[in-house]
This record gives sequence, C-alpha cells and structure tokens, in this order.
Amino acid sequence: MKVKTVLCPRFSEVSRSFFNRDCQVHTAWTDGACAPREILKAAEDLGLDTLAFTEHIRSESVYFKDFFREIEGLRKGLVMKVFIGVETKVIDEEGQLDISSADYAMAEIVLGSVHRIPHNGGFYHPRDLGLEVTLEEEFRYLMAMLRGGRVDVLAHPFGMSLRMFNVFSTDHLEEVIRTAALTGVAFEFNSKYASPVFLKEAVRFCRKHDPLVSLGSDVHKIEDLGRCRGILEGLI
Ligand SMILES: [Zn+2]
Repeated sequence: MKVKTVLCPRFSEVSRSFFNRDCQVHTAWTDGACAPREILKAAEDLGLDTLAFTEHIRSESVYFKDFFREIEGLRKGLVMKVFIGVETKVIDEEGQLDISSADYAMAEIVLGSVHRIPHNGGFYHPRDLGLEVTLEEEFRYLMAMLRGGRVDVLAHPFGMSLRMFNVFSTDHLEEVIRTAALTGVAFEFNSKYASPVFLKEAVRFCRKHDPLVSLGSDVHKIEDLGRCRGILEGLI
C-alpha cells in the first residue's frame, strides 16, 4: 500500500507521462530470463521513468530478502523510479494471498493475480476447468482480492480466460472495475493478456467508474520491456 499512490493514478488523471513505465517485471530470480541489472540498463535505454520489479512469490519462498537487497543497491543513484514488489496468487474466497507475512510487509507493491484457479479444494489450470468454470471462478477470485484488502494492483485481470479461451464477460469486467474504484485497488492494463476488444471495453468502464490504474508488460524477456507503453495509445 505504501507506494501505490505514486505508481497508480486514477484513470481520469492519466496523462501521456503515465505511459512511460513498466510495472510488471520478472527476472532470473524466478522465471524471467534476465538479471535485474540488465533490465535496468534496458529500461534506461528505452527512456522509461518508472519501473516495478514484481517477482513471483509463494508463501514458502525464501529469496525475497536477498532480492530486495540486490535491487536496493542497484536503484541507488538512478533517475528512474524503481520499486521492489511481488506478484502473488489468490488462494481463497477471503482474498488471502500465497505470500508470507514477512515478505508481504517488505514488498513495496503487491500485485495479486489469478493463476492456478482454486476450485473444489484444489488448484487447477484453466484448461482443465473449461471455459464456463474458468470464467466464473476467475471473476469470483478477482472479486475476492478486491474485497480482501490485501492487494495494491489486480494483475492481468481476466488473464486466464483471455489467454486460454480469448473470452471475457463484459458484465464481469464492469463489476470488477466498479469494485476496484470503490476499494482502491488498481486495475492493471497488461500488454501480454489484453486483446484490443478487451482494452476498449476496459477503457470504457474505467472512464465511467474511474479506478486507480497500473500499466505492465509481464516482462520475462528483455524484448518484453516497455511493450505496455503503446497499448492505451489511441484509446485515451
Ligand atoms: Zn501473472
């Protein structure tokens, strides 16, 4: 919650300078290809002014303190604003997250996502649940995170339905954006998951409900960095 106000403006306050950022970045500390140092160099070359490392984390992860220390060292003296955060998945209907309380307290920004979907006591890949169950369950757990009060940013909302089935429900999308605006959780525009139709509808509902917003590319390779910068071009 600490830096959210810096990172995530209200949709109505978004100006061109907002685009010059990437707020979902993974490194070789988890499943990304590059070291943080390489990411920062590439981000400077691209002229980004804001970057958030949002490393994948689970409750049993033990690396976060060391990761935090490394980035803290690297960001010293940079003009670019660099934040040290996490991306973690929702694990139940209360919106609890798969992260230890120590790592949660240390993270400067917490992205919550639906990855493996909780269903009937287990965690499932959307492909094994099928379209209809995935649509309903993804919506239910996005809402759980919004009401749970633990996440700063809703990461790639509806990403599972979009990625596996290229489908989303307009009603669900509006309800998520409306609730995000009420609860102060930022809605992420993510270049990896969002289709042009989805972006258009999301912008329409953001205009209506005015939630906080974030922008990320879900960077895993250096070429991904900054991809999110263009996705709202022409829509806002
Ligand atoms: Zn993710």
